[in-house]
Amino acid sequence: MERILEAILNGANSDQLASIPLPAHYRAAHVLKAEQEMFLGMASNDKDPRQSVHVGDVPVPELAPDEAVVAVMASSINFNTVWTSIFEPISTFGPLARLGRESEWSKRHDRDYQVIGSDASGVVLRVGSAVRNWKPGDKVTVHCNHVDDQDPSSHDDSMMGSNQRIWGYETNFGGLADLCIVKANQLMPKPAHLSWEEAAVNALCNSTSYRMLVSRNGANMKQGDVVLIWGATGGIGAYAVQYVLNGGGIPVGVVSSPEKAQILRNMGCEAVIDRSAANYKFWNDDNTHNESEWRRLGKDIRELVGEDPDIVFEHPGRSTFGASMYVVKRGGVVVTCAATSGFMLEFDNRFFWMRLKRLIGSHFANYREAWDANRLVSKGMIHPVLSRVFALGDVGEAAYQVHHNMHEGKIGVLCLAPTEGLGIDDPELRAKVGEKNLTFFRR
Ligand code: NAP
Repeated sequence: MERILEAILNGANSDQLASIPLPAHYRAAHVLKAEQEMFLGMASNDKDPRQSVHVGDVPVPELAPDEAVVAVMASSINFNTVWTSIFEPISTFGPLARLGRESEWSKRHDRDYQVIGSDASGVVLRVGSAVRNWKPGDKVTVHCNHVDDQDPSSHDDSMMGSNQRIWGYETNFGGLADLCIVKANQLMPKPAHLSWEEAAVNALCNSTSYRMLVSRNGANMKQGDVVLIWGATGGIGAYAVQYVLNGGGIPVGVVSSPEKAQILRNMGCEAVIDRSAANYKFWNDDNTHNESEWRRLGKDIRELVGEDPDIVFEHPGRSTFGASMYVVKRGGVVVTCAATSGFMLEFDNRFFWMRLKRLIGSHFANYREAWDANRLVSKGMIHPVLSRVFALGDVGEAAYQVHHNMHEGKIGVLCLAPTEGLGIDDPELRAKVGEKNLTFFRR
């Protein structure tokens, strides 16, 4: 690995990189099948990723014809890394076993360990014999849509593929490692004005928010739309705020502290609700809904922007879903991609059908959507929301912090990159974009 890293840092060309032998093993953050029941019976909050995530050497797998090996310079923590590491709502070794039954090549994924992580920025080291558009030396970011291109169900919108998977969550060989194995159709050009760690935090959350708000597969937001964004300084929320501002919409950002409220204002989001200060109680102690609290949220939104939201960007799930379905405008859209606080959701259907509202389920993004979202980052029109950077050895601690909502924006992870700030190839564009826009979340 040292030779590979030295070559990358010295700007080695494609042939030079291709001539360096791959190591037999690589350093990777992983969970163990033997430990998948270690948290059985414990409350979710007590399940500790610092106990389940290990960082150590694993073997380099053989490369399939449609794949690439990438030297990972940096990666990021996504909430799915939290889910994998606490084995909730399921252990991901089940999906790996199912993937392992699909083909000769996919058998490789079914192991007694799983290398986790669904983001990466880095340099292509090898490509399989069927790969056309990429070569060793290409600087890339990786999106996490793992698609079977021989399945007809994948050929309208690949997120509709019956065996669509999320790389590094429902597959092995993920990005929190010194190397990763990806399908060539997961590769995208690295934004040249960003450092490795800035480039590594975008693909999963940025593409998810793009599909939810901008794509015709999502809410298809238009100019002037009022968009209520839960968790507006979290991973997906912070990109959602940028999409609403870029698209001429009016974001109403919900956060849980004055510090986060200030970040939103710095980003240009004027309508901000601090849910901790407001102290909404959408659920009564006896597990029934408190409709007057839904009304209070609606009133707060109207006081800020004068009308009800056209779109609600929903992901907290059980704690907020009833309120989201209530406050969205007559004929409006709630778009959801998650249920962090619980996935058994309840809402009052009377307000839904009588007010002709719509609910859209959304999941990651197809290659086109991920590519378009990455293009906006490359053009300096959407910015990374990196707040802190951890070493690969500290992935367990980083996942713990995300699990307990102790972060803002995205946590980056240095893999092969020896220090922060490397990998910037277009300082002119960086200067044009402005350090301020790239560092709203840094602490
Ligand atoms: P994150 O960085 O932890 O941000 C989530 C934000 O939600 C937090 O900043 C928090 O903001 C807010 N929040 C948490 N619990 C809440 C509650 N009970 N009520 C109201 N707000 C709450 O996570 P993320 O990366 O944005 O991901 C959010 C969810 O989306 C996760 O469940 C993740 O797995 C899912 N996700 C799904 C996809 C997909 O493709 N389907 C893709 C990405 C993420 P405040 O405390 O400031 O309010």
